[in-house]
Amino acid sequence: MQLYNTMTRSKEAFVPIETDMVSMYSCGLTVYNEPHIGNWSVYIVWDLLSRVLKDAGYKVNHVENYTDVGHLVSDEDSGEDKMVQASKREKKSAWDVAKHYINRAEDDRKKLNILSPTQMPRATDYILEQVALIQGLEERGFTYEIPEEGIYFDTSKLQDYGKLARLDIEGLQSGSRVDDTGKRNVTDFALWKFSPKDEKRDMEWESPWGTGFPGWHIECSAMIRAILGDTIDIHTGGIDHIPVHHTNEIAQTESLTGKPLANYWIHRNFIKIDGHKMSKSLGNIYTLDMLIEKGFSPLDFRLLMLQSTYHNESNFSWDNLESAKQRRKSLQAFADLRFQLQDDGLEQKDIDETYKSMRASLQDDLNSPEALAILSQLETKAMSKLISQKTDFTEFIEWIDSILGLDLMSSEDISREQKVALQERDNARRNQDWKVSDEIRDELVEQGIELRDSPYGYVWNRL
Ligand SMILES: [Zn+2]
Repeated sequence: MQLYNTMTRSKEAFVPIETDMVSMYSCGLTVYNEPHIGNWSVYIVWDLLSRVLKDAGYKVNHVENYTDVGHLVSDEDSGEDKMVQASKREKKSAWDVAKHYINRAEDDRKKLNILSPTQMPRATDYILEQVALIQGLEERGFTYEIPEEGIYFDTSKLQDYGKLARLDIEGLQSGSRVDDTGKRNVTDFALWKFSPKDEKRDMEWESPWGTGFPGWHIECSAMIRAILGDTIDIHTGGIDHIPVHHTNEIAQTESLTGKPLANYWIHRNFIKIDGHKMSKSLGNIYTLDMLIEKGFSPLDFRLLMLQSTYHNESNFSWDNLESAKQRRKSLQAFADLRFQLQDDGLEQKDIDETYKSMRASLQDDLNSPEALAILSQLETKAMSKLISQKTDFTEFIEWIDSILGLDLMSSEDISREQKVALQERDNARRNQDWKVSDEIRDELVEQGIELRDSPYGYVWNRL
């Protein structure tokens, strides 16, 4: 298996710490508003990664968090806590906001066939671990306090700060305005924020430094350490996490443990909407429900995402969602050939070859577009030559579902009556009774069954 590692900027052979077990952590959603398709474009990739790893024979211990405190409006630790902002907007407690959007996210995940990670901890469930981690950093001299603001990480104390993003620290330092927060370096960040003096927050805790709440980055470091250990195999996130969030996770953990936080860093590139960045002002922030309202299945979107590699920017438009919908329909017709196996047709070796090449593509840094193109070749052949009953075609479709999550096995065979009608039509055709043959065909179309004749026999598919 090969993966592109952001840390080394190269594609590398994947070798886990333990022989048959992979530890993987994905930075999860901040649960303060409706998740949108940009979010799901990321989590579909981690789902694919976990499925491909399992297919390669690994057990996968996948942890993905929910951020329910401390993520400020700006990644640079300024502005309001997103949860507080949402609680004002929705006139609910921050706890209720989190509960609501976690449920929403869970619904969407099911609709997209995103398998549940092994654990999905919430930041607020790991406050003690976060406090302990900050104490550890304090003992090692990496922290300082800004009165009334909080406890900060001093990035100048860490030699290789910014290595993941290859940050130009001097450039950043000289290009920055004089900071009025009292930070010693422009890249320093909050580990613990103090609650405002005159305000009681819904979410706040006692700590050795005073009442407050954790900064955004510390939760991931603390949860990874508590659940998965000091060094994990794979850490994933959106490409936007590289310069600040992941850079700071690395700083915290590695200053404390002296060991690498993760051996492989995998990042999902952006998704654009009609070639533009997603933004409120363009009104192009779509949720899954908006897609469903327009008559699409969430799995059409899943397929659209699998049609490009996670490495490159992908583009969403209603037109290419429509193409993905048609593509999924024809894949379904192909999968339904399992109800129509013939005496002759494609043989097991055709299926085996496809299986082998698809697997190789997926293990090559999750090249799902290539895997889908290989599948298409088999599909085209199968639609004309049909498939022999001497194959294990059904098992092959089960495998496709297990790896791509497109639910192709959920369709059912046609009814006994419809099968009889098909036979009658075939007889009519043999007798050149075109009138009866056409009548039966029209009747089946009304029932949502379309017929196609090929030199090797007829095939039905659902409309
Ligand atoms: Zn994180």
